[in-house]
Amino acid sequence: MNAFTSSRDDTQASFTHAIFHPNASSSGLWCPKSLPQVNFQTLINQSYTDLVHSIFNALNLDIQRDILDSALSSYKDFDNSSNPAPITTYNLANNLAILELYHGSSRAFKDMALAPFGTLFSTLAKQQNKKYLILTATSGDTGPATLDSFADKQNISVICLYPKGGTSDVQELQMITKEAKNLHIFGINGNFDDAQSALKNLIHNPDFQKELEAQDFSLSVANSINFGRIAFQIIYHIWGYFCYIKAKNLEYGTPLYPIIPSGNFGNALGAFYAKRMGLPLGKIIIASNPNHILTDFISTGIYDLRGRKLILTHSPAMDILKSSNIERVLFELFGFKRTKELMQNLDSTQVYSLAPNELAKINEYFQALFCPDNVCLEIIKKYAQKSILLDPHTANAIYAYEELQDSTKHFLAYSTAQWCKFAPTMLKAITGETAKDFEAIKKIESIFKQKAPNSIHTLLSKSIKHNRILSSNPNEIRSEIMKIL
Ligand SMILES: *Cc1c(COP(=O)(O)O)cnc(C)c1O
Repeated sequence: MNAFTSSRDDTQASFTHAIFHPNASSSGLWCPKSLPQVNFQTLINQSYTDLVHSIFNALNLDIQRDILDSALSSYKDFDNSSNPAPITTYNLANNLAILELYHGSSRAFKDMALAPFGTLFSTLAKQQNKKYLILTATSGDTGPATLDSFADKQNISVICLYPKGGTSDVQELQMITKEAKNLHIFGINGNFDDAQSALKNLIHNPDFQKELEAQDFSLSVANSINFGRIAFQIIYHIWGYFCYIKAKNLEYGTPLYPIIPSGNFGNALGAFYAKRMGLPLGKIIIASNPNHILTDFISTGIYDLRGRKLILTHSPAMDILKSSNIERVLFELFGFKRTKELMQNLDSTQVYSLAPNELAKINEYFQALFCPDNVCLEIIKKYAQKSILLDPHTANAIYAYEELQDSTKHFLAYSTAQWCKFAPTMLKAITGETAKDFEAIKKIESIFKQKAPNSIHTLLSKSIKHNRILSSNPNEIRSEIMKIL
């Protein structure tokens, strides 16, 4: 069942193939060949896991029911197993609610897809009797979620690279205290881009691949270019819509405008697919930070990397300039020939431009705004005064809501991390004080009488299992990997 096609030519593949080999031909990404129209209204009372089954069936994903069920059992570890992505209305405005996507083990939205993805990947690998090496580079959120997902999973080894000193203490401890034989975590002397480049160098190195094959290992990645993650990231947009209209007593069909803090565009892509399949969403509002390349693109139709430097902001998970999943939107709207042309322009000249009719098409689906970093802190402070703790990524979304000032529409702002993951920024915003992670967490807890989850507090008493630091030289990393395998 070849439900997928490359975004840059007409090569086709099954879902399973797309998961194992996420890089499609002509350097493209695997995309659904065509999206089904779904009668969402009939699904409105399904449980979260039944909804996953319904959507996977509609998308023709070739996964056996019992395998998907065992993957979905990973939601049992979430705060509320039957509702992994709850909405809250607090004492917010009448036309606003928050979709909380941080109730999994790593306290960021990456768990929504990575938690079931690890079991799915491992079960399929076992079925095929193949061993996989998953390589991942993280700026802080993907790493912990990937490690939790793949810990002790059969047929899988994970190498995780993170920039030493470039993550928060909480994020680093979530990685280096992880105890499982198949997980190997290294700090890299350098920034996230250095770690990412070293990893890309290895992934595209044929000698390394041969060396791995000699050890019976195939190589794969778990970032959001892997459609296995995107598939799970379609579901909670539908769930969020249902929860919103039920909570506000609205008729099915009332348009809801999701506001999504975006970086690599994997989260927003799920909403785009749901809207294409017929979910009554209004425009998808892309919330960016001062690295506002997505805002520029959606406003002007020009994706321009020339002379652009990455800025380190208060919302580090959104610090990105080459937003991979935009390519899948281009494919879905304009087809593979045009996508290939645009992406080749980007590779060769660092820029591409849409024609006016193409931009109009993009604007039927998306609107974008970006939040300056000082305003991000002000938003955190303002809501903290109402006892609502918004992490800096979520604050970017709430900024977009306030900026739009539209009481005629309904909005669902996505909360992509819990406040305790970025406590120093929170404290700085709220009291102006500077403190390291755990001191900041304690101070905020005592001000607001809200506790960070136990899984965060216990990090401090865990022993450190991984303390190797490597240079960002791909050859050093490669020989380290071969020693382990
Ligand atoms: C990864 C992440 C994002 C960005 O999501 P994309 O799918 O890359 O757009 C936003 N906020 C947090 C907290 C994240 O971890």
